[in-house]
Amino acid sequence: MLDFRLTPEQAELRDKARQFAVAEILPVAWHYDQLDETPLQILRKAYDKGFTNTDVPAKYGGKGYGLLEAALMTEEFAAACPGLATSIFDNSLGMEPLILSDNEGVKQKYLPGILDDFKLICFGTSEPTMGSDVSGIRCNAEPDGEDYVLNGTKYWITNGGLADYISVFATVDPKSSHEGICAFLVELNWEGVTVGRPIPKMGQRCSNTVGINFKNVRVPKENVLAPPGKGFVLAMQTFSRTRPIIGAFATGAARSAMEFSIDYAKKRRAFGMKIKDFQAIQFKLAEMYQKVETSRMLTWKGAWEADQGQDPTITASIAKFYASEAALEVVNDALQVFAGYGYTKMFPIEKLLRDVRLLRIYEGTSEVQRMIVAGHLLGNYQPTMPALEDLPLHIEQEPDQLDSNQTVWRCRMCGYVHYGEEAPEECPYCFFPKASFKHIGA
Ligand SMILES: Cc1cc2nc3c(=O)[nH]c(=O)nc-3n(C[C@H](O)[C@H](O)[C@H](O)COP(=O)(O)OP(=O)(O)OC[C@H]3O[C@@H](n4cnc5c(N)ncnc54)[C@H](O)[C@@H]3O)c2cc1C
Repeated sequence: MLDFRLTPEQAELRDKARQFAVAEILPVAWHYDQLDETPLQILRKAYDKGFTNTDVPAKYGGKGYGLLEAALMTEEFAAACPGLATSIFDNSLGMEPLILSDNEGVKQKYLPGILDDFKLICFGTSEPTMGSDVSGIRCNAEPDGEDYVLNGTKYWITNGGLADYISVFATVDPKSSHEGICAFLVELNWEGVTVGRPIPKMGQRCSNTVGINFKNVRVPKENVLAPPGKGFVLAMQTFSRTRPIIGAFATGAARSAMEFSIDYAKKRRAFGMKIKDFQAIQFKLAEMYQKVETSRMLTWKGAWEADQGQDPTITASIAKFYASEAALEVVNDALQVFAGYGYTKMFPIEKLLRDVRLLRIYEGTSEVQRMIVAGHLLGNYQPTMPALEDLPLHIEQEPDQLDSNQTVWRCRMCGYVHYGEEAPEECPYCFFPKASFKHIGA
């Protein structure tokens, strides 16, 4: 049965997240954006209120919430500040490889501690030389007795300057592409780990982003999340489960831009009337709402598929690239509704515009999502229509007047349908020879 209604528990969770977003995130977001700093106290409050680590399975002491619950909460946080929403959700991104790992020991070792105490865990595949091409990882993992020795640099690491742990992807052999990739849980206070300066960014400045260098860092084999050869799949499985949440960031940010635009349009006057009375403004608002609703539906579908145990990869990619591009359009249109005031720092739109621009980049660029979806369409996608060369397009005869013994041929080149015992010597339309005709009936 298809049902878009939330359960009472889900609605309550969304409402609590909404209250938290409005009471705690919204009042501080612009200040910390200006400072280019992450307010750690907000991340701690989110932890205290039970908004983080929600997907840890019950058997490790977690709530075992689904991705849909994460999407509901994240939309609310992002509506107040996409940067803080990114940093709040980052624990789920960092923990996903741990939750998905086959290594039961490492889960027992870390998950209860992350639940019991305010601990941050970040995620690292990207490096200074690559982001999209995860098979191009250079960070080296050298087996040495009971340990691996890590050397290399991870870059663009969200919360890296604040975190206690990182799920880090490395390779035993950079030349072996996917085959060499492995993953580890590394404690960031281990010897040889250096955290770089916060990277100054255009937007999402409330979210800490750094490089992390590993110099001869000894990682015990018990901390392996994925052995060599299994790390690439683990990274892709992680993204399939976290990409719908980028859709939730986009939905929340776009929703706010739309709501602020409605408010502004109802008050601002031009040419003796409220600007809400101009159809040009009304159409912008209508399209904003259309994009917000569509983004939410796609996001929920991706999350729902994951929660049903289905492979959410394709829907997650569609949700990610649709919603992140729609959010950019919505916020950009909102700036046009606000016009001059939209371009100032005294109104919320310019920050939203800077913040949502990132959504098309991290967790796989829009181009990468299109590659994934196109690969599916040209590979495993099962069409419902017959192949073009089999189409019974009866233009010259009515189908119900056809003799059941009537022989029908179709030109594979131009599509002409010929009736007769034999295919014609050449097609009367495109002049291709008899061999280009396919027998399609009787
Ligand atoms: C603020 C921020 C936070 C981030 N947080 C994290 C994090 O916590 N952990 C983490 O691991 N990473 C993180 N990232 C990294 C992010 O995932 C990468 O930036 C992203 O995957 C793109 O990689 P890149 O920047 O190296 O671009 P590149 O891979 O160098 O791509 C450059 C351009 O080429 C295009 N391109 C690349 N390959 C193809 C292709 N085959 N076909 C067509 N076009 C292609 C891309 O779409 C892009 O337009 C973060 C990034 C930012 C900016």
